[in-house]
Amino acid sequence: MTVRTRADLQALPAYVPGRSITGAIKLASNEVSAGPLPSVVRAVAEAATTMNRYPDTGATELVARLAEKLGVPAEHLAIGCGSVTLCQQIIQATCTEAEQVVFPWRSFEAYPIITQVVGAGQVRVPITAGHALDLDAMAAAITPRTGVVFVCNPNNPTGTAVRTDELERFIDCVPSHVLVVVDEAYKEFVDDPHVPDGVELAKAQWARGRDNVAVLRTFSKAYGLAGLRVGYAVAPPPVAEALRKVYVPFSVNALAQVAALASLDAEDELMTRCRAIVAERTRVRGELLTAGFDVPESQANFVWLPLGELTDAFTEHCLAQKVVVRAFSGDGVRVTVGEPAENDAFLAAAKSFAR
Ligand SMILES: *Cc1c(COP(=O)(O)O)cnc(C)c1O
Repeated sequence: MTVRTRADLQALPAYVPGRSITGAIKLASNEVSAGPLPSVVRAVAEAATTMNRYPDTGATELVARLAEKLGVPAEHLAIGCGSVTLCQQIIQATCTEAEQVVFPWRSFEAYPIITQVVGAGQVRVPITAGHALDLDAMAAAITPRTGVVFVCNPNNPTGTAVRTDELERFIDCVPSHVLVVVDEAYKEFVDDPHVPDGVELAKAQWARGRDNVAVLRTFSKAYGLAGLRVGYAVAPPPVAEALRKVYVPFSVNALAQVAALASLDAEDELMTRCRAIVAERTRVRGELLTAGFDVPESQANFVWLPLGELTDAFTEHCLAQKVVVRAFSGDGVRVTVGEPAENDAFLAAAKSFAR
């Protein structure tokens, strides 16, 4: 006899992490290439001396700091082990098998996996030919069964972002029982003033009685803490409370909490890094366009090359030049914007790709 596991897990695709290859340049996981700040490393090292103790399960200090920074009462906040775990908490808090999750596709790979793990139904709404979210189609996909709809802004892996007016119009179309989740993992890399700050937008929506808008943020990308796993949700109090209820006790560890606080202390320095990455993004895209690639305008720390059938060949070509990029077979390649020298190595590889 073998142990009986859920039959439906057989059909579940595994999450494909970006490959790490010794000696190669990794531009596959949207990490910040620069190492952690010395001040953050110091704070973590100090906190390591008390790791015999459980972490603060409510992350009280971090929550208070975030509440102050964002200008919302602490009851609006919930933390999680990165925003990917918060996506799971959100679906667990809003959906059973009877409900469906609506999300754009192609978008963040974790959405369909988590939805299926939770056991909810899923509706994938194709993105436009211009690689942007199709908010009209997403609104049209909402039914009485919909529990939550994800708006990935900017969208991973295409980098495109929806504008404030579009998002407001979309929210107006969503019934009040459906939670709209704006996933802002790359918010700090946005430089288009027409793209909303999701938290400010959510606050304005709450003020007009729209208590169905939540925002996800993470310390993994701009703050450089991908390895420590901490993110947060900003949501109407009943939603935040539900997220805290499904939180696995003590799961955001003590070192992650300390590192997040130290990163908030060093925010200016980290945002300066982000601006440098944004400048590099402009340069990388410009050179790719000049070389004849189609590259949608990106508001994130990566660019998208919709190479279709050439995706795997391009990826192997980059790999041969020791540059690891992220392939979505048959669809396109996502390339993280790294340090200038890393980007140069990628651009050299891309330009030498014979199409
Ligand atoms: C990277 C990413 C996340 C979350 O990352 P965590 O490390 O779990 O915080 C969430 N959403 C999108 C769209 C992402 O690309």
